[in-house]
Amino acid sequence: MTLVEPLYAEILRRNRGEHEFHQAVREVLETLDPVLERRPELVDARIVERLCEPERQIAFRVPWTDDSGDIHVNRGFRVEFSSVLGPYKGGLRFHPSVNLGIVKFLGFEQIFKNALTGMPIGGGKGGADFDPKGRSDAEIMRFCQSFMTELHRHIGEYTDVPAGDIGVGGREIGYLFGQYRRITNRHESGVLTGKGVTWGGSQARTEATGYGCVLFTAEMLRSRGESLDGQTLAVSGSGNVAIYAIEKAQQLGATVVTCSDSDGYVVDEKGIDLALLKEIKEVRRGRISEYAERRGARFVPGTAEAVRVFQEAGVAFAPGKAANAGGVATSALEMQQNASRDSWTFAYTEERLARIMRHIHDSCYATAERYGAPGNYVVGANIAGFELVADAMLAQGLI
Ligand code: GLU
Repeated sequence: MTLVEPLYAEILRRNRGEHEFHQAVREVLETLDPVLERRPELVDARIVERLCEPERQIAFRVPWTDDSGDIHVNRGFRVEFSSVLGPYKGGLRFHPSVNLGIVKFLGFEQIFKNALTGMPIGGGKGGADFDPKGRSDAEIMRFCQSFMTELHRHIGEYTDVPAGDIGVGGREIGYLFGQYRRITNRHESGVLTGKGVTWGGSQARTEATGYGCVLFTAEMLRSRGESLDGQTLAVSGSGNVAIYAIEKAQQLGATVVTCSDSDGYVVDEKGIDLALLKEIKEVRRGRISEYAERRGARFVPGTAEAVRVFQEAGVAFAPGKAANAGGVATSALEMQQNASRDSWTFAYTEERLARIMRHIHDSCYATAERYGAPGNYVVGANIAGFELVADAMLAQGLI
């Protein structure tokens, strides 16, 4: 990263201690030399410097009471990174690890991910250092209401459209939307995505991230003349993304033999029993070890070794910003339905999602070829996303 080395040093200096953000910026900048060499106008316009500085960063206090009446104080964030392609768009994460550096890392990635979808959405991310584990429904509701009491003044269908992420699912979006509606006295469906389907949500949004990931994998295989049919697959995780990745993989004829949670993973050579997995994870909010007990499958503690084994075997690698863009892309479809006060069928929405995943794949693939890195989806995704954002920034002047 010769051209961007001095910029990176400046980013380290100005964003001290934000390790995850440094890492995210580094991973993108590392791949940008070829495009900056070919297009000096982007260097002259200081596009990279501008992109690495969020348009706006909001941090706020979130006070709430638990069921025993004790008071807690958490910290909420919304980083509005780039609105050059559309309203800020990205999820809210509720997890004890959340801090400004993590939200900036996720928000930075979101700019490129959202650009890749080809939909009119900018990049943003938010959340709180709140730990939902073990909290009652009533506690979750009070927390969401307190969080939205501050957040509502910063968001809107043309400004910033949050959604779910880790720790924020349909239940939390419901409480957040209710509080927004109450404070603003507006039933503004387009202000949040991931809503329930009877009150402005989109069909297939729940399934979209997992489906999208498998559809992207199917496209990668197609580009090598292969398909998922008859393949054996390892899936990690067992939350919303993993469950619907397994569902789509099974529909496309693959046998999925693993899934995991933070305690370890199961190996079920007969193929994962999806109905049982859904019952344990979606209905009972249980642990994956229960699955192993019920099916007599193997349960093993996870290791970092696996990543190295994959890399050494030269397995094709899809970066998160391309492979998991199906969720946010379907959020953009939800915004479209809200704007036109319409709701589409599952089949039509899924068809649109499949087209978007193919578009993302093809533009990553073609961009990697164009910049001399054939088959490198990391380079392809970063440059394709960057060029879309950079060209819009050039067109819209020094903002
Ligand atoms: N949290 C998901 C993501 O990071 C979805 C965001 C959204 O739907 O706005 O892409």
